[in-house]
Amino acid sequence: MSSFAQEIARAAPSVADAKQRRWIYVPYDRLTDAAGPLSETAPEQAGIVMVEALAKARRRPYHKKKLVLILASQRHFALEQAARGVSVAYMLTPGIFADGLELARQRYGLSRFTMMEPAEREMRLDMDEAVRRGVAIEQAPDRTWLSTDEDWERVFGKQGPEPVSKHHLMDRFYRFLREKTGYLMRDGKPEGGQFSFDAENRQPYKGVPLVPRRPAYPPDEITGEAIELVEREFPRHFGNTAGWNLPVRREDIDAAWKWSLENLLPIFGPYEDAMWTREPDMFHSKMSAFLNISRLLPGRVVADLVEAAGKGLIPLASAEGFLRQILGWREFMRHMHRITDGFRNIAAPVEPPRAPASGPVQTRAMEQQEELTAPDAGARPSALGASLPLPAAYWGTPSGLNCLDTVVRQVLDEGWSHHINRLMVLSNFATLCGYSPRELTDWFWVGYIDAYDWVVEPNVLGMSTYADGGLTATKPYVSGAAYINRMSDYCGRCQYNPKLATGPESCPYTALYWTFLERNEAALARNPRLRMPYNTLYKKSAAERLALRERADACVTELGKATY
Ligand SMILES: Cc1cc2nc3c(=O)[nH]c(=O)nc-3n(C[C@H](O)[C@H](O)[C@H](O)COP(=O)(O)OP(=O)(O)OC[C@H]3O[C@@H](n4cnc5c(N)ncnc54)[C@H](O)[C@@H]3O)c2cc1C
Ligand code: SF4
Repeated sequence: MSSFAQEIARAAPSVADAKQRRWIYVPYDRLTDAAGPLSETAPEQAGIVMVEALAKARRRPYHKKKLVLILASQRHFALEQAARGVSVAYMLTPGIFADGLELARQRYGLSRFTMMEPAEREMRLDMDEAVRRGVAIEQAPDRTWLSTDEDWERVFGKQGPEPVSKHHLMDRFYRFLREKTGYLMRDGKPEGGQFSFDAENRQPYKGVPLVPRRPAYPPDEITGEAIELVEREFPRHFGNTAGWNLPVRREDIDAAWKWSLENLLPIFGPYEDAMWTREPDMFHSKMSAFLNISRLLPGRVVADLVEAAGKGLIPLASAEGFLRQILGWREFMRHMHRITDGFRNIAAPVEPPRAPASGPVQTRAMEQQEELTAPDAGARPSALGASLPLPAAYWGTPSGLNCLDTVVRQVLDEGWSHHINRLMVLSNFATLCGYSPRELTDWFWVGYIDAYDWVVEPNVLGMSTYADGGLTATKPYVSGAAYINRMSDYCGRCQYNPKLATGPESCPYTALYWTFLERNEAALARNPRLRMPYNTLYKKSAAERLALRERADACVTELGKATY
C-alpha cells in the first residue's frame, strides 16, 4: 500500500460524517479551498470527494509530466484538506469520473454533491454521465474566474443558439475588465495613460540581463509515488518524467509564484517575445499549469502583481504586459470556448475526418495520432482548408529545422514552452505547411502540462491557426524566417540560411510563408492587416514564385516521409 493510500485512509468519512457533512466534489482542476463551495463551508462541516480515474488519463497519450502534476497535486490537496479537518473520500477507479462517484455512493452512501461549474467541456460531459446514473450534482458558480458571463454579454452582446460568426476583439473585453476591476487604473484612467504597452514589449534578447536560476522542487514521497504510477500505467505516453522539478505542495507553489513575482516579472515585459536556446523559459512565470488546476488563483496573482507595481517594484510596461495575459487573454479564451461550444458551433468550414492510417507501416506517430482522436474527435474547423497530417517531427523525429527541433525537444522534456515558441515556431510552421488544425490542437493538448480544452482549443483553433475563420484573431499568426531570426538565436545554429528564400540552403519558413499567402489569397488578400505582405508578394515575378513553391513543396514532402 502506498504511503499516500495509508495517510488518506485516515481521513475517510465515518457513518456520522457521511450524514452530517456537506459533500463537495473537487475535480482535478479545481484544487482550491479559497473559492467556491469549499471556501464557504467550515472544515468540520465539509467533506470532499476526489476521484482518480485512470480512463481519463488514457483518453489521450498525455505528457507523463502532466499526469504526474495532476496526480501529485490532487493527492497533496487531499492531504492538506484532511489536515484542516475536512473529511476526504478519495476514490480510485480504472474507469471514468462517474464510476468514481458511484463508488463513493456504494462505499459511503454519498449521493449528493456540490461542485463548481466545470471549466472543461469534457468534465461537463463526464458529469452529465454521472447524473444519468443517478448521482445528484448541484453546480455552484465557478468563483476562480475574474469575469462572468454577464461581463462578456455587456461587451459583446448575448450569443443566441445560432453559430458564432462575428469577430471578438480581446482588447475590448480587456479594457472593460480593467475598468470594472480598477486594476492598474487611476481616477478611471489607465495607469501611464494607455491600456497597452505591447509596443515596448517586443525586444530581442542578447544574453543580458541574465535570467535568474529558478528554484527546483525535487519529488517528495507523494510525487515519487505518482511518478511510479505514471511510468507503470502509461509507459508509452508522450514525454518523460525524468528531472522532475515542479512544485506540487501548496507552500512550494506559493514560494514559486512569489519568486517569479520578485525575480522575473520586473524584467518580463521587454523580453516577453524573445526566444533563446540556453534560456528557453526566459522571464516567463511558468505559472499556467498551477493556475489551470487552481493551485494558484488568478485573483491572487493579479492582486500581488498590482500591489508590487504600486510599490514601484515592477515597471508599468511589465506589469501591464502580465496583467493583459491573465485578465485579458486567459479570460477571453475561456469565454470564446464557452460561446462556441468548443468551436463546434461556428460558421467556419469543417475539415473532413481522416480515415485511420492503414498499410504495413504503422508508425508510433500514427498510433499516437489515432489514440488522440479515438474518444471525441473534437471540433474540426479549418477555415483555410488545411488538412495535412501532422508530421513525425512534432513527435520527436528531427526535422533539421533548428527552431522546430529545439522547441519540440523542450516540449518532450518539460511539457512546456513559452508563448512565442508555441505561436511563432510550432503553430506558425503547422499553419504555413497546411497541417490539420485539429491534429495540431490535439498535439498541444497532449504535449503541454497546462493544456485543457477551454484553453488549448481557442489558442490553436482560434488564435494561432485561424481555423475558426477569424472569430478569435484578426489574422493568422504567420511569419517567415525574418521574425524568428530577429527574436531568437535559433537561426545562427541552423543548417538553413534565414536570409535566403529559395534553393537547398534557404530557410523553409520563408518559402512556406509566401506560398501560404499565395494559396490563401481568396480568403486573406483583402484583410487590411495583410495588405503589406500581399503587396510584396504581387511584386514577385512568376519565376520567383515558382521557385518559392518548389522550395516549400520539397520541405512539406520531405517532412511527410519521416517516421517515428
Ligand atoms: C498555440 C498555443 C497554444 C497554447 N496552449 C495553451 C494551453 O494549453 N494552456 C494555457 O494555459 N495556455 C496556452 N497558451 C497560452 C500561453 O502560451 C501560455 O498560457 C503561457 O505560455 C504559459 O506560460 P507562463 O505561465 O509562463 O505565461 P506568462 O507569459 O507568464 O503569462 C501569464 C499567464 O497568462 C495566461 N495566459 C497568457 N496568454 C494566454 C493565452 N493566450 N491564453 C490563455 N491564458 C494565457 C496564462 O495563465 C499564463 O500563466 C497557448 C498559446 C498558443 C500560442
Ligand atoms: S533558419 Fe529557418 S528553420 Fe532554421 S532556425 Fe531559422 S527560422 Fe528555423
